[in-house]
Amino acid sequence: MKSFELASREYKSEDTIIEISSSRKKLCIGESYCTVIAGPCAVEGWDDYLALARILAESGAHILRGGVFKPRTSPYSFKGLGIEGIEIIARAREITGLPVITEIMDIRDLDLLYNRVDILQVGSRNMQNFSLLEELGKVDRPVMLKRGLSATIEEWLLAAEYILRGGNQQVILCERGIRTFEPYTRNTVDIGAVALLKQLTHLPVMVDPSHATGRWKMVAPVARAAIAAGADGIMVEVHQNPDRALSDGKQSLTPDNYYKLMGQIVKLAEMDGKKM
Ligand code: PEP
Ligand code: MN
Repeated sequence: MKSFELASREYKSEDTIIEISSSRKKLCIGESYCTVIAGPCAVEGWDDYLALARILAESGAHILRGGVFKPRTSPYSFKGLGIEGIEIIARAREITGLPVITEIMDIRDLDLLYNRVDILQVGSRNMQNFSLLEELGKVDRPVMLKRGLSATIEEWLLAAEYILRGGNQQVILCERGIRTFEPYTRNTVDIGAVALLKQLTHLPVMVDPSHATGRWKMVAPVARAAIAAGADGIMVEVHQNPDRALSDGKQSLTPDNYYKLMGQIVKLAEMDGKKM
């Protein structure tokens, strides 16, 4: 038996499909679906977020993202709009009918997020926050677990195991690059991990090419590589005006560039026989 059990293919051979039924449109992640999550790094305000949400919905995004509690390296950086940010994404969800995802850093925020958000994201910095994982194991909401900054694949799957073990079977993994000796890119994207995870686990595997590279010009090629390697979808950061973004502008696509990427992803998914 492997150190991780519930996440393994031995335990469950068929792919897990996560159904997002809490939003207006029913949506599936995993197996034969290719899912695109898009939105800014952080929700920065009402007008911009709602305008972008409309653009993304019209150009085929399946799920809207936007951080409201931001884990920032410096305590002096913009840390998100908090409760007001939740109201903004909840409104975007209502207007577009698309499900929304945002990061949960503290289990005390669960009550606020539970009915307004469709997927709870656990960020890299919290991948091994075991008490948070255990609490999310008791929750009836999908959790997207991002790979820790320097987590091995086994550590990552064991982190997923904490959630599964609590009874929550709705876990999505998200590769977002790992820290290596290479300083040229923000992180080093591990495409091999995607191919390996598809063998090791039944859980859906997404890739975030934005945080994985830190450079918007690398986002489209790495997103394509992710789909080609078998990822169940991508999560990309998009901002109307990346130069003015309060966080992660350098890795954010403009809506135009996002639209071009979307066209490429649609073609790749079609080649793979995946539904979008
Ligand atoms: C994010 O996706 O908003 C984020 C903070 O990413 P990560 O946890 O991968 O750094
Ligand atoms: Mn970001």
